[in-house]
Amino acid sequence: MHIAWFKRDLRVWDNEAFTNACKSKLVMPLYIIEPELWQQDDLSYRQYNFLEDCLKDLDKDLKKIGQNLIIKTGDALEIFNDINNQYGIKEIWSHQETWNFWTYKRDLKLKDWFKSKNIKWNEASQNGVIRGLKNRDGWSKEWQRRMNILPYEPPKKIRDYKFISEKIPSAKQLGLKNDGIEILQKGGRYEGLRLLKSFLNKRGKNYSKEMSSPLTAHYSSSRLSAHIAFGTLSIKEIIQQTINRKREIQKLPKDEKENWPRSINTFSSRLRWHCHFIQKLEDQPDIEFKNMHSSYNKLRNEKDNNLFFERWKNGFTGYPMVDACMRSLIKTGWLNFRMRAMLMSFASYHLWLPWQKTSKYLATLFIDYEPGIHYSQSQMQSGTTGINAIRIYNPIKQGIDHDPDGIFIKKWVPELKNVPKKYIHMPWEDKNYIKEYNFPIVEESLARKVAASKIYKLRKEQTHKIESNKIYIKHGSRKPRIKKIKKQAKNKKVEIQKNLF
Ligand SMILES: Cc1cc2nc3c(=O)[nH]c(=O)nc-3n(C[C@H](O)[C@H](O)[C@H](O)COP(=O)(O)OP(=O)(O)OC[C@H]3O[C@@H](n4cnc5c(N)ncnc54)[C@H](O)[C@@H]3O)c2cc1C
Repeated sequence: MHIAWFKRDLRVWDNEAFTNACKSKLVMPLYIIEPELWQQDDLSYRQYNFLEDCLKDLDKDLKKIGQNLIIKTGDALEIFNDINNQYGIKEIWSHQETWNFWTYKRDLKLKDWFKSKNIKWNEASQNGVIRGLKNRDGWSKEWQRRMNILPYEPPKKIRDYKFISEKIPSAKQLGLKNDGIEILQKGGRYEGLRLLKSFLNKRGKNYSKEMSSPLTAHYSSSRLSAHIAFGTLSIKEIIQQTINRKREIQKLPKDEKENWPRSINTFSSRLRWHCHFIQKLEDQPDIEFKNMHSSYNKLRNEKDNNLFFERWKNGFTGYPMVDACMRSLIKTGWLNFRMRAMLMSFASYHLWLPWQKTSKYLATLFIDYEPGIHYSQSQMQSGTTGINAIRIYNPIKQGIDHDPDGIFIKKWVPELKNVPKKYIHMPWEDKNYIKEYNFPIVEESLARKVAASKIYKLRKEQTHKIESNKIYIKHGSRKPRIKKIKKQAKNKKVEIQKNLF
């Protein structure tokens, strides 16, 4: 018997592992709910709710071709052992998983066990992330090649066999408590397809202009992140549909194109970033908890700022835009990119909190939690990668730029609902309006300057540059620097490593 082991690829369409598994005479489509995984400090109730929707749709789609989804709850190794004792497993088909450290270690353990039992484990890649990559040269080309492959079609029929399936345990049974979410994003393939269609044909028109404001991004962004993270849609099928839409737009008369061409291009580049960031975790699984650049190892002390952490975590920092973003995230499970970056930057620079602690908390709030993107971005917004420009977001400016009238702020921070526009981003400036709200936790410009001076001091050191160079070779995107590198190489045959910094 063969097993199609569904992991973060909860679809039958464009699922290479599933399609290949179905070539055998008897296949068990299996999903394992691992209670120990759900106890990890980066997983949460809201993510589990989304997962339940996805499993229901997957089961529906499998039934259409003759076999329901087999659910098992427990330790993966024990479950495979039981199945092997009962049926004798010949081969297992799944996708390569680049996820958190717990799943990384679980897969290493399973690999050894499968080998000891003579079970062949076939792991396909489901995106542009390359396993066993030496460095980033040529990565984009390979990514492009993979995205051009035709989607894998599921078989019309598979053999129906009465495998015993369990019920999906409730969140409560797994010890997951409601974490304050009020508006749950719907999961499942059908919802993912609906979002993709509405984004490419309607909602995405002003994406490039409206993605940065939390007021507009909610509608104008694709909102596909959780679907990509759980694999209800493959990144490849999204890209191929985006390319088709791009062709349609190109044929439109000039006056009907509006903002579509720019928006589609901006969106396409984000889809590539998805794999670019996950590739970093694939190449270095410890970036979940270790600074990419070791110069920053002793910079932020976890024990010092618990009070700051609590105020930031609950949205009571006294900075209206920070608090509105945090409170909206707690209740909805989603936030646009710029505001995620601002939350992280504020915690890491102004409050000087270690990203290892704040990123775990944010992970639980994001329904779309994707460790490869999440930890790379968290480190980037905290200045610990050593290869990215330092960007410290000023929360007052972000508020003025992206919520000028305070509409978003007033929605999520009701204490400020009567504050006039003049004071909405700095309510402390008038004592009449500060009564029910907190005073700022730190003085913005002072905190920013102190943080910047500590970071820049480190970056100037020669040892910093040497290590940065190595990190760039391993993780850096070749695209932005490609012209510079080519020019340098043409003028005098420079050694790339020495001249990039
Ligand atoms: C600190 C921090 C943590 C983040 N954590 C996550 C996370 O756990 N999971 C996650 O999917 N995204 C994460 N992001 C990236 C980004 O904010 C979200 O992908 C985006 O807001 C999701 O909304 P959307 O699907 O409407 O995105 P769209 O703007 O419509 O983009 C489409 C897709 O492209 C990818 N994408 C978009 N922006 C980025 C980016 N900057 N880097 C990499 N891929 C991107 C995502 O898969 C996204 O679904 C994080 C960003 C920051 C600053």
